[in-house]
Order: sequence, then structure tokens, then C-alpha cells
Amino acid sequence: MNLKQRGYCDRILRVDLTAGEIWTTPLPENVMPLILGGKGLGAWLLLMEQAAGTDPLGPDNHLIFHNGPLTGTTAPTAGRFGVTTRSPATGTYFDAYCGGDWGQMLKYAGYDALVVTGAANSPVMLVIDDDVVELHPADDLRGTSITAATERLKNIFGSEWQSLVIGPPGEQQRNIAGIFNESRALARGGVGAVMGSKQLKAIVVHGTGTVQVYDREAYDRALQLAFRAVRMSSKVTMLNKEGTANILEIIDVMGALPTRNFQRGRFAEAEEISGTAFREHNWKKDYACFGCPIGCGKWTAPLDDGTVIEGPEYESIFALGSNCAIGNRETIIKLNWYCDEYGMDTISVGGVIGFVMEMFQRGIITADELDGIEPHWGDANSALALVEKMALVEGCGVWLAQGVATIATQYPAAQPFAMHVKGLEMPAYHPSAAKGTALAYAISERGACHLRGAPLGELFSGAADPLSIVGKPQLFRDTQADTAAWDSASLCLFPGYGMSLKELWQLVAAATGFEYPKASDLQRLGERVSTLARLYNVREGHVRSQDTLPDRVLKQPMEGEGPGAGETVDLDPMLNEYYRIMGWDVNGVPIPERLQELGLAAVLDFMAG
Ligand code: SF4
Repeated sequence: MNLKQRGYCDRILRVDLTAGEIWTTPLPENVMPLILGGKGLGAWLLLMEQAAGTDPLGPDNHLIFHNGPLTGTTAPTAGRFGVTTRSPATGTYFDAYCGGDWGQMLKYAGYDALVVTGAANSPVMLVIDDDVVELHPADDLRGTSITAATERLKNIFGSEWQSLVIGPPGEQQRNIAGIFNESRALARGGVGAVMGSKQLKAIVVHGTGTVQVYDREAYDRALQLAFRAVRMSSKVTMLNKEGTANILEIIDVMGALPTRNFQRGRFAEAEEISGTAFREHNWKKDYACFGCPIGCGKWTAPLDDGTVIEGPEYESIFALGSNCAIGNRETIIKLNWYCDEYGMDTISVGGVIGFVMEMFQRGIITADELDGIEPHWGDANSALALVEKMALVEGCGVWLAQGVATIATQYPAAQPFAMHVKGLEMPAYHPSAAKGTALAYAISERGACHLRGAPLGELFSGAADPLSIVGKPQLFRDTQADTAAWDSASLCLFPGYGMSLKELWQLVAAATGFEYPKASDLQRLGERVSTLARLYNVREGHVRSQDTLPDRVLKQPMEGEGPGAGETVDLDPMLNEYYRIMGWDVNGVPIPERLQELGLAAVLDFMAG
């Protein structure tokens, strides 16, 4: 099988930073039809190549950047790429995804994946120029912000080069650190800290190759159908008009907009921070990632002090806004700017600030412990002071930047309202008001994650009552499998508002020529890939006891008004049903028969021996 004629480069670039060695290997040809690429490839490599018990911040951790067969093609949103590693925040398998322009450039340079292991003795950058790959010293980039580092790299290499960089929190191995391609990020789970642990400040890439698909005629037909489906979707139109924030007011009405550290599900100032308000007062132009016909990104007009950002996204508005009782758009923009400029995950940063505000409200933490900062609900100055401390990794920012779960270990009285799962701060849908989302947060292999299940499907489709647990395990199982297929093909999830799995399947089948007779084969592939991630976590000792939620949603009826008021989450029946559907035992471990059915016998043998 010639993978180079099937959407792949058939090369994995490998770098051992300890030894300073660089080499390539082919893709695992026999398993590619089983895992496709992207998430599937990352999960496969991490499970098969990384030893059990690896320290997330040690040199043996693998930092795996990956493309899919559609990356760099003409498919909608084909700039998508991802990273897979063991997270220092969760201790689990972890994957994160990004648009921008870096992924397609790595593909054009001739690589389906980049696997970084080892650790350098001093800051370095990896320079990839097609077949020429070198390590360069990066001492003079130490301590630079995302913008400063990116600008300097463009000056050195040229504006057509694409970069991935980390900021000071990444260099200092903080759990809230992400990896940035200009205004776009692999944000969550401390992937920036893993890069920092390797002393890898930047990866720059320039490629001049092309991507060849298997059946050009079938691919072009599939492409037409895909673009038509995207163009005809009213949800896509809203994404273009008001960005991801277009849903904020609806989520608020449904009582699922987390407010004051998830104490409530409605925010009195929701209208002020809605997509409509940002569009009318702050946004001045659209942004689209490589190959994207949607353009959900928005650039703001400069504030009085000159602050400009791309965003804020819905998740960032919740985290830095309602979650902290902040209803002022300019404050949210400034908080978001700190996150982007210094390389931090907005969801985790907002989670930390909201958590600290509640601890302060309840007298669990004092201003003395926070360098004199008094974090009252909704107070812009204290929120900005806290985010600056985290950005510069100074004073209380050193430990705040480790995230909610780590902070909570020092303050046991705050544990019941430490809003994280497996160490990952919760995203923007209150689980008490959306029970399928609650299951998704509890089960997701990377901790509290809104991208595995179907928060929007559950909240908007009308097919399911958000407050009921009935049918949610099956709904989550199906959407998780679909999502894993999208992430393995490596497209942004948003075309999925218009395209169905069938259109994705037509594109993938035409591009790869793999034997996928039915669209459901892709869903099965997604389940297989999700199972690989689960197997990694099981190997690391993560079982049912980790598939849980904070006491706030399990035991404390939601305060305030709205559909979710008075609700808690009855998790165990959903877990039991989900495990049964997935073919896992009562402890959440996939059973051998199910692994055989999924074509994972080789993994079973590998794990046994
Ligand atoms: S829909 Fe938004 S996030 Fe997705 S590729 Fe387009 S601009 Fe990027």
C-alpha cells in the first residue's frame, strides 16, 4: 500500500532532545486503516511506544504532534492538527487540537507526525525546512511572550514560516500552559508545560510539498457535497456572524451558563457579554484558520490602552466572565489578552480565578496568601492582578498556575467546589443542567472536556431532555465516537454543524482509499480510537473511581434560577449503562472480547506481554 497516494506523507519525524538525534520512520502501515491518523495516530503511538508510569514532565514523556489524512488538503478546515502526550495536570492520556496554519505546513514539509522525546540542557528550537531538520539554540528567546517570540522567529526565518511557541508559564512547567501558533492554541492540560520540560521553546516549520489523495474524482465529488452542507447550515452562519459566543444567551436561558464558580447556571449580565454585544461593540474583523469556509474567529478593535485580541471565544467568555461574575467586556478582553500573550489556557485560568474568588468569599484563603490581592466576585482589578501573577509566574502566580486541582490539595475545605475532573478545569456547560454533559465530563479520557460528548447536541437538538439521564449514555457513546473520527481525520469540529458523518466518510474514503464500505465504519473507528485512549489510562491505574465529578454537582442542588435550579447529577446509573454499551467491565476496563471485536487484538497482546 503506497500511503503517499492516500493523503499521507508516510513519515514520522522523530527528535530525541537528550541525544540531539533526529530521524524519520514510516507510518505503521498495517494499522493506519484502523486508526486513520490524527487522534488515532497519537493514541496509538503513545500507548505502544511510551513506557507505563512515565513522568509527564520527565524526558521520557512523548510530545506527539499529529496530522490526519485530510490535513493540508482542500477539505473544509484542513489546517487542523493536534498534540498527544501524558498530561502533568491530569496524569492521563491527553490530546489537544488547534486550527491556524502550523499543521498544514508540517504536512507540506513531509511529515504526518512529529514525536519529541528527551530534554535539552538549555533552551532550543526545532527548525524544520522540508527535509532539513535542525536544533538551534534558543537562549535569547527565554522568557519571551508568545507575540515577542513569534515576531522574532518571523524576522529570522520569514513570514511564510509557521511557528509553535510557549510562554513563560510553559517554560516554567505550569499546568495551565498551552502551545501557541500565533493567535491559535493547543491550550489545555498543560501541554505547554511538557514542551517546557524539554526546554523546547519553539518549533518552526516551512514546507513546499503537496498532499495526494487516492481517488481524485470521488474526492472532488465528496468535497462539493461537504462544502454545500457547510454553507447551508444556519448554525454555521451564526458561527460566522457572532463567533462561538453566539450560543451564550441560549445557554444562559437553559440554565447551563456556569456562574460564580458553578454556583449557578444563569448570569444576570449575560446579555452584556453575549456574541451580539461583542459584535456590536468590540469585534471589527473575522479570522479563519487555513482552509476554513466558516471563519468563526473575531479580532477586536483596540481598547483605549491599545489591547487587541483574537476572540474572546465562548469558552473564554464563560471562564473569565460569568464564572468570575465579571460582566464587563473590556475586562474579559484584557484577561484574555494575558492568556494569549503569555501562553495560558483561558478555561483553566478562569477556573482558577473563580475558584479563588469563592475561597476568598468563604474565608478559606486570605489576601495575605495572595500577595495582598482581595479577589471579590466581579472585581476587574483583582482578576487582572491574579492573571498577571500567573502570566509572569511570580508570587502567588507560581502555585495558582498549577490549576484548581493542585490548589485544592492545599485547601481541603475547598475540595467540594474545586471544579475539575481528573485535574482538568471544567468548561462552559453546567453539568447539573445538562446530564449528558455531566457524563461526558466524568468519562472523558482527558478530564472535564466539552469536546468529547455533545453538550450542544444535548442542549439544542430537542431530541433529549437535558435534565434527564435517560438515553444519555448512548447519546454520549455515539457523539464521542463521531468526534474521535473527526479528530482522527483532523478537521475542525465546526463543519460538523452542517456536514454529517456521511459527508466526512465520503471525504475520508476518497482521500485514503481505505476499505470503509459504510459511514458507520468511521464511527466504529472513532470508538476504537477512544478505546485506545482508555486503555492508556487503565494501564496508568485510572479506573472507575476517577470517572467522577465534584461534590458541587453530585451532592449540592444548584442554586439560583433557571431549569437547572435544585438539580444534582445522578452519575452512577449513567456510568453503569455507558460501561455496558462500551463493553467495559463494572470498573471501566474494556473486556478482551470487545477489544477483539474492535480489531485491537494486537494491543491486547502488547499489553499482556
Ligand atoms: S470554524 Fe473557527 S476554529 Fe474551526 S477552522 Fe474555522 S476559524 Fe478555525
